[in-house]
Amino acid sequence: MSERVGRRRFLAGTAVAATVVAFDPVFGWVAEADPRTDGAIAVPGLDGELVTDPASLAEAADDYGHIVHRTPIAVLRPASVHDVQVMVRYADRHGLKVAMRGQGHSTFGQAQVKGGVVIDSRTLATIHDISPRGAVVDAGVQWLDLARAATAKGLTPPVFTDYLGLSVGGTLSVGGVGGATSHHGLQVDNALELQVVTGQGDLVTCSASCNAELFRAVLGGLGQFGIIVRATVKVIPAKTTARVYHLNYADVAKLTAAQRIALADGRFDYLEGSVNAVEGGGWSYQLEGLVYYTAPDAPDDAAKVAGLPAPTSSDISEVTYFDWLNRIYALVEQLKQFGFPSPWLNLYLPGDATDRYVADTMASLTTADTGGGPILLYPIKTNLLTRPNVEVPDTPIAFLFAILRLAADPALVDPMVKSNRALYEKARACGGKLYPVSAVPMSPVDWVQHYGGDYPRFAADKALFDPRHTLTPGQGIFGA
Ligand SMILES: Cc1cc2nc3c(=O)[nH]c(=O)nc-3n(C[C@H](O)[C@H](O)[C@H](O)COP(=O)(O)OP(=O)(O)OC[C@H]3O[C@@H](n4cnc5c(N)ncnc54)[C@H](O)[C@@H]3O)c2cc1C
Repeated sequence: MSERVGRRRFLAGTAVAATVVAFDPVFGWVAEADPRTDGAIAVPGLDGELVTDPASLAEAADDYGHIVHRTPIAVLRPASVHDVQVMVRYADRHGLKVAMRGQGHSTFGQAQVKGGVVIDSRTLATIHDISPRGAVVDAGVQWLDLARAATAKGLTPPVFTDYLGLSVGGTLSVGGVGGATSHHGLQVDNALELQVVTGQGDLVTCSASCNAELFRAVLGGLGQFGIIVRATVKVIPAKTTARVYHLNYADVAKLTAAQRIALADGRFDYLEGSVNAVEGGGWSYQLEGLVYYTAPDAPDDAAKVAGLPAPTSSDISEVTYFDWLNRIYALVEQLKQFGFPSPWLNLYLPGDATDRYVADTMASLTTADTGGGPILLYPIKTNLLTRPNVEVPDTPIAFLFAILRLAADPALVDPMVKSNRALYEKARACGGKLYPVSAVPMSPVDWVQHYGGDYPRFAADKALFDPRHTLTPGQGIFGA
């Protein structure tokens, strides 16, 4: 099967793009009609477009966070994997930096490249095949499109992020956590095979059994070792219906106690939780558990809540499986229209420190500090996380704690980012790890600490797969 985002559709609504054909070491990228093309280094045979118009550059210098802005000198809209290879090889040879930009839903410039080239993966968005052996997709495919196409065949990737407007290549570069992680690990744990363009422009197919070092490095590798151009991801049979259990608690300890029980016995196919503002001040804590099923195999509601701490209130509802996966897409798209800065903080907390950390944090946090953005809190079993470049606490259970802040007033951005940094340091002091999609300033020294004992391997892989540090400077791991 094939679903392609047509280039024409993609370009519709953007300013007319100036196609660029050459790079001059003095004048930079040079357009076809420019007389300075003489003497420039030609960019050999691109199938797609390399553009430098202000609208394209401005888009590539922005992301969901709207906090960091680094302007590239050109944006490549690849029409083929070959284009990615050509561009990376070219950049590597001429000392330019390159990064793939998926849907640009990072919050702190992670996909941006000051003075370099951004490769926009949205033009590489073909779903090549979906069968019980796996789904083969281009890196620019959105999870929404894969969810739609797979469920039409009675199949589904095991794990989705809460929002489906993210690219497959983007979440495989960071981790990809969601409610089904409680059973299936992260999205990176469900990748079967990748096609990767390394920092020197080599196209390599890798999996757990073939070029395994590159496979291990790239999954959750924050774009440091290669650009994922195609992925085969696991699929499993899809159920048709989602029954949703919401149990509300007055304090964090009761929520996490309930979550720990549910995580241990696996009663829910999906397990998340949130912290919600109470009118008049304070917070309430909600467990969100789901059972996926196909009639007539309906779940037994009493059994699903049996043995959990008694909630202050609860409700049970039901939607189709696909509608559940797609539950916040429209809302996020609406919110994006406002363009509010979004200094998000995502942390993995050690299970044994979570209650204290969250209780302390929430005691001093108000909705003015979060801008009313959602706060997530849910547990994962760290033994299900198999990709070593995704750093999580060294405890059997870790909790994702995410404060998804929204700064309706730009003056709030700075204090929110500072607060993120302080909370990160507090988490780090008790064994917590950053989920690096966050708006937290990080120095190279912070990254050494982040990777800890894994850092020497991380740096050695960089030397092997991207020796000139061509790829993805926006993460700031090896300096700007
Ligand atoms: C509304 C919203 C909801 C979210 N919900 C979740 C959630 O439930 N769970 C979760 O885990 N995350 C969630 N995220 C975070 C999200 O997973 C990351 O921001 C992710 O990086 C976004 O994917 P993207 O396609 O926009 O990637 P981008 O932001 O474009 O890129 C992210 C990083 O990966 C690199 N990259 C992108 N594509 C490739 C590629 N093909 N090869 C190599 N490197 C690449 C980029 O250079 C950059 O460094 C959410 C974000 C938003 C805005």
